[in-house]
Amino acid sequence: MSEGAAQPVERQLPTEEARDLFALVRELIQREIAPHAAAEEEAGHFPRELFTLLSASGLLGLPYDSEFGGGDQPYEVYLQVLEELAAARLTVGLGVSVHSLACHGLAGYGTKEQQTEHLPDMLGGGLLGAYCLSEPSSGSDAASLRTKAVREGDDWVITGTKAWITHGGIADFYTVLARTGGEGARGVTAFLVPGDAAGLGAAAPEKKMGMKGSPTAQLHFDGVRVPDARRIGDEGQGFAIALSALDSGRLGIAACAIGVAQAALTEALRYATERRQFGRPIADFQGLRFMLADMATQIEAGRALYLAAARLRDAGRPFSKEAAMAKLLCTDTAMKVTTDAVQVLGGYGYTADFPVERYMREAKVLQIVEGTNQIQRMVIARHLAGPEAR
Ligand SMILES: Cc1cc2nc3c(=O)[nH]c(=O)nc-3n(C[C@H](O)[C@H](O)[C@H](O)COP(=O)(O)OP(=O)(O)OC[C@H]3O[C@@H](n4cnc5c(N)ncnc54)[C@H](O)[C@@H]3O)c2cc1C
Repeated sequence: MSEGAAQPVERQLPTEEARDLFALVRELIQREIAPHAAAEEEAGHFPRELFTLLSASGLLGLPYDSEFGGGDQPYEVYLQVLEELAAARLTVGLGVSVHSLACHGLAGYGTKEQQTEHLPDMLGGGLLGAYCLSEPSSGSDAASLRTKAVREGDDWVITGTKAWITHGGIADFYTVLARTGGEGARGVTAFLVPGDAAGLGAAAPEKKMGMKGSPTAQLHFDGVRVPDARRIGDEGQGFAIALSALDSGRLGIAACAIGVAQAALTEALRYATERRQFGRPIADFQGLRFMLADMATQIEAGRALYLAAARLRDAGRPFSKEAAMAKLLCTDTAMKVTTDAVQVLGGYGYTADFPVERYMREAKVLQIVEGTNQIQRMVIARHLAGPEAR
């Protein structure tokens, strides 16, 4: 069993360019990410300088158009990069995924002028993004958001509070969903707000169970003024933009979840081959061998599902239902596999001397963000019920 333990995952990469990209990613992980992950997570340190390096290396714009500084990579490749980054450190993998989510609106719905002006800096110019949909009183029921944007001449004035914002307080730009019309989804518009806008402030980061290096904070918009040139898409189109971003973002969360699960399995395998009880490695006992076999099988199933959804997206076909399924299966898998990894390590698994307890704490948040897994089931069920039910 030992020979498989530390092997890198064999990747399904469509091009030579993608294989080169993976060599770069693995080198960056080994040199810049993995050695600091445990200590920086413990200290709650966000590696802002690492994100500048990732941006300079082309890793913050991978699935976007090279005309605007992106990497032109299919989602199939981008997601596997996310998986490896998240396996090394979830704060980094999820951070890249959230940044990508924040770029989605402008890249998909912005005007050519907006894209030319902003996207190169967002995709490869060192800027870090955040996505602001949730509010203190609207999480799952996101369409009931209350943050308001009021038109004043050529400007919009934004007032309200956003909650749970990943990179809140440190991002260079925020994609913000605000109400410009009546109640419900049709009254929402998207804006690109600079991080240093007057009237924009952040609360102290939340004290979280895991992913402590990733700042999550409330953002207060106190009459933040942005020109109409920073409105993304049409008035009233914001919620559709937000949901479209989430379809793609959920695939990112799925890939991150499989990364965390893979890291937990790798550690469990390593430990099980070294730890001896009753005169032999614990990996010899069928009770653990079957558990490890189940963990590996669940990971492969999750990886296959997120890749299948990614290939639909790459082919320009609908993938919303499959993205919800991938998010649901992969994050539930991460929770199960990381919990089992703690079990494989016994008492040692419950201590901070080994990384599996951190993986278990990290897996939990993935069942919650970008639509809880209850919401994913609602999305899937709506698709099963047919177009009228959506
Ligand atoms: C670490 C972290 C980072 C985050 N980052 C961001 C970010 O960058 N940007 C952003 O906009 N948001 C972000 N979020 C917010 C996240 O998307 C929300 O927490 C999530 O959507 C759930 O909303 P809520 O917490 O208000 O829970 P609620 O919506 O209040 O849900 C509470 C419980 O009720 C269940 N529930 C609610 N409605 C239903 C229903 N109809 N049927 C069945 N069950 C239901 C939920 O599944 C959940 O179990 C982040 C959250 C966390 C924890």
